[in-house]
Amino acid sequence: MKKQMNLGMKILLGLVLGIVVGAILWAAMGADAAGSFTAKYIKPFGDIFVNLLKFIVVPLVLLSIMDGVIQMGDIKKVGKIGWKTVAYFLVTTAIACIIGLVVASAFKGSFPMLELAEGAEYQAKSANFMDTIVNIFPNNAINPLSTAAMLQIIFIALIFGCGVLVSGEKGKLFGDFIVSFNVVTQRVMGFILALSPYGVFALMVWVVAAQGPKILGSLGLVLLAAYIGYIIHVVLVYSLSAKIFGKISPLTFFKKIFPAAAFAFTSTSSVATLPITKECCDELGVEDDISSFVLPLGATINMDGTAIYQCVAAIFLAKCVGIDLSVGQMVTIVVTATLASIGTAGTSGAGMIMLAMVLEAVGVPTTFIGIIYGIDRLFDMGRTALNVVGDASCAVCVHAWEGSKVPQKKQKA
Ligand code: ASP
Repeated sequence: MKKQMNLGMKILLGLVLGIVVGAILWAAMGADAAGSFTAKYIKPFGDIFVNLLKFIVVPLVLLSIMDGVIQMGDIKKVGKIGWKTVAYFLVTTAIACIIGLVVASAFKGSFPMLELAEGAEYQAKSANFMDTIVNIFPNNAINPLSTAAMLQIIFIALIFGCGVLVSGEKGKLFGDFIVSFNVVTQRVMGFILALSPYGVFALMVWVVAAQGPKILGSLGLVLLAAYIGYIIHVVLVYSLSAKIFGKISPLTFFKKIFPAAAFAFTSTSSVATLPITKECCDELGVEDDISSFVLPLGATINMDGTAIYQCVAAIFLAKCVGIDLSVGQMVTIVVTATLASIGTAGTSGAGMIMLAMVLEAVGVPTTFIGIIYGIDRLFDMGRTALNVVGDASCAVCVHAWEGSKVPQKKQKA
């Protein structure tokens, strides 16, 4: 426990120092010079760390889900946990959408009319719901691993894990190999995790130096709306679910999940944060087979923060282009934002790309995403932190539902 707290404190220290150093550089050199200086000389250290996390993520997701399924020992248990997990994800994401809509509607009157930044660079690509479904099923066994196609990797892990379970004695050797491989992967991940405070520092210096306070400027309101939505969701949904379903004090939950939230905030990638989320859930006493199953799945399909962001952004952009959304269109936003957040990859900036799907559904031209492109990282930081906390809250609840036990800190052997 001591070790985990130390890592959390170090991450916090890296975060605070990063903000201070970034602000100093921004004030001393100006945003442009500080931005290019930090992008050239400081951000690469953050990139190295994020690269290492991404490197470990494919084996981690593949092996931990397979291990999770194998540890359950019974294919019926997989089904039982699976539907509870997915139901929790869907319900919380739909609530997130509604919170996003309500908050954004409250702000709507004061949303500024913005001019579209000329030549704004962004890449909006429309994503079709059916394509998302079809793409879950790989047509090749190797490609998903080399391209880190997370939904396909999850599918492979689930189907092979179930394969081991139904193979009985003959599948035992392969099952033991996977369990052992998973232990080794977790240790390798531990080496990488030890670097996280430095990675957080480097990334934070870069963000603050490059963006500076002015970034908040005229877009401050929409950013504020998103963050109010994030906070309401945390307080309302995660505190209550920790207390009511997880049978754990919300304060304990937030304290223990903090390192993961802080890292998600700076890395803006749920998938890259996965190893840390897993550590935090271990600290919360969530059973290994449950967290190994719920967290990788959540990092890929459960995005409450992204859903809030997409709703707020859709209302904001609709206002910018003068579209007054009807109640029917609001319902459409809830449905499409829920689906879009499921289809969003747990990587930096992915939610903004999937926003195109929501905008198209209500007839807002996707080109207008350019308006908020410049500050997407600031949205992304909060929404990723929320996404990760949502995954952990699901793990805590499923643990309590399955074991009817109060999550406790595991005693280390
Ligand atoms: N960055 C987010 C995540 O990794 C996804 C998004 O862009 O909304 O959870």
